[in-house]
Amino acid sequence: MLHLNKKLRGKRVIWLIAMAKEMVWDLSQLVASTDSASIQKQLKLMMAEAKSFAGRYRGEIAGLDAENLRKMIEAKDNMYLRFEGTMKYCFLMYYADSTNAVAKQLNEAARKTHTAIRQEMAFMDIELGRLLSENPFLVRAPELAEYRHYLERILRREPHMLSETEERLALLKDKNGIGAWEMLQSDWLSTRTFDIEIDGEMKTLPYGKMVGLYQSPNRDLRMRANQTVYENLGKDEIIWASALRAVCEDHIQMSKLRKYPDPITQSLIANDVDKQAIESLMAVIKKNAGLYQRYLRIKAQLMDLPKLANYDLAAPLPKMPDKKYTWSEAREEIGAAYKRFDDEIASWIEEMFTRRHIDGEIRKGKTAGAFCSSWISGKSAFVLQSFNNRMGDLFTQAHELGHAIHAYLYSRAQKLSNCETGSCIAETGSIFGELLLAEHLLSKTRTKEEKLAILAYIWDEFGLAAFQVSARFFLEKELYASIERGEFLDGETIAKMWVEARDKICGDAIDWLDVMKWQWTKSPHYYIANYRFYNYPYVYAQLFVYALYKLYKEQGKGFVPKLKRILAAGSSKSPAELSAELGFDVTTEAFWQKGMEQAEQFISLLEETI
Ligand SMILES: [Zn+2]
Repeated sequence: MLHLNKKLRGKRVIWLIAMAKEMVWDLSQLVASTDSASIQKQLKLMMAEAKSFAGRYRGEIAGLDAENLRKMIEAKDNMYLRFEGTMKYCFLMYYADSTNAVAKQLNEAARKTHTAIRQEMAFMDIELGRLLSENPFLVRAPELAEYRHYLERILRREPHMLSETEERLALLKDKNGIGAWEMLQSDWLSTRTFDIEIDGEMKTLPYGKMVGLYQSPNRDLRMRANQTVYENLGKDEIIWASALRAVCEDHIQMSKLRKYPDPITQSLIANDVDKQAIESLMAVIKKNAGLYQRYLRIKAQLMDLPKLANYDLAAPLPKMPDKKYTWSEAREEIGAAYKRFDDEIASWIEEMFTRRHIDGEIRKGKTAGAFCSSWISGKSAFVLQSFNNRMGDLFTQAHELGHAIHAYLYSRAQKLSNCETGSCIAETGSIFGELLLAEHLLSKTRTKEEKLAILAYIWDEFGLAAFQVSARFFLEKELYASIERGEFLDGETIAKMWVEARDKICGDAIDWLDVMKWQWTKSPHYYIANYRFYNYPYVYAQLFVYALYKLYKEQGKGFVPKLKRILAAGSSKSPAELSAELGFDVTTEAFWQKGMEQAEQFISLLEETI
């Protein structure tokens, strides 16, 4: 008996080790040897190759014909592909454990190499842009057919590029200018502490912990956490207003210097979209704000409240089942969700697990949040998340694996230069994957509560990405308009603009604490250099995928190859072109309204379920 027990216990230990191993990714596949000296050698080799590439082509691009241009782009792609695994190994190892001394060293070495190579290669886009603007026919040359859109994008950026010296100066200016504001804002958030009473005890907590309290089931605590954080942010309004004023005025000046017609065009070009599409998208958001307010009222009802307060937005629904999922249950559910859609995609999802490309283990030193890093030379991807066994973790996993599927498809179909998917299209696989999981989970829920929890989860995410992010877009637009009108942006003025932008979206569906007028101060994006109008791609992606999902519901299996084609295209076509192939015109409000219709169907389902 004793013997048997021992054996069983032994088996259990082996099983636990196997489970733990299963949740830790295997990065050794990225490199020929994990020996850190040999990795450092590879980084040096990469630098040497970049130098020799620059030695061969710098100053020579103007004289290249179409055939030699193709050879140059291929040589560049191949160079990056050859060292992709090494670079990735250094970065991913550090994200997984920043306390690991070897990881720290390799990450630092890889970052240095990365920056040095960017500088070494900077001449290519400048010279290529010049050549293309003088010989635009090259973009259509049959030898370069595969790179057509890559070249079109360089050509679109070209009129706004400065000389090499000016570009270097701009980088330097940002490093100690906007970069310093960005660092100040992030240091403020990461070093300030807040005093708050929890269960009768006074605690002093950092910002990250305070944010966690926004999701507490205790409403009073949620309220006090919000009040404390934003009151303190407001006390330093003079800092945030100075920073934002400087960032926006710098952007206006740089936009003029770069000959952009307005402050938004730089971001439109970077995201490969047109102004008309974004205007239609935002018009649809404004027109449908009532739909979001309808959801907010339902959420109030589900929380037994007459009206939601801002501190209820991130709160869990009371009386909902707190269902837990093990790692293998997650694997099973997500696999099944994707299998309902397509066998090939499901087999790749399975491969992500069997080849241990997902890091789910919770550990000290691991970066917060989740991401997917595509591994193009390996025709696969790596996913990182901290798996806490909750439903939200399943959705995160489905989301990141959707990104991985995107990488599986475009890395098989495209050259490296066509794998730079912009923000508007990059979320297509991921958000679609979340909807597939929602559909699968809804199909097997037995209780009303479980169903409500899933539907509320979908709408919380949609409301955040489509509507609340739009309020930030409206604020950003207003900031530039105000500067152009010659107004002075002090803290109270920006706060007033923010309240107006927010109310356009939420109407009277939410009671706001007064201090929430300082909400704009905590978004790091506003202070990052060269990141103006970062917001609308989230809205774009959300409604784009909802419109696609609606098409899937209408067309069934016939839609599957269409989605795969979109994902396999990578950045070889613009989002507008990809939509046109499906018969959609992204410049029209009618297209974006399709996405809203799908969102409304989820609300109706929620209302029927209550
Ligand atoms: Zn994503």
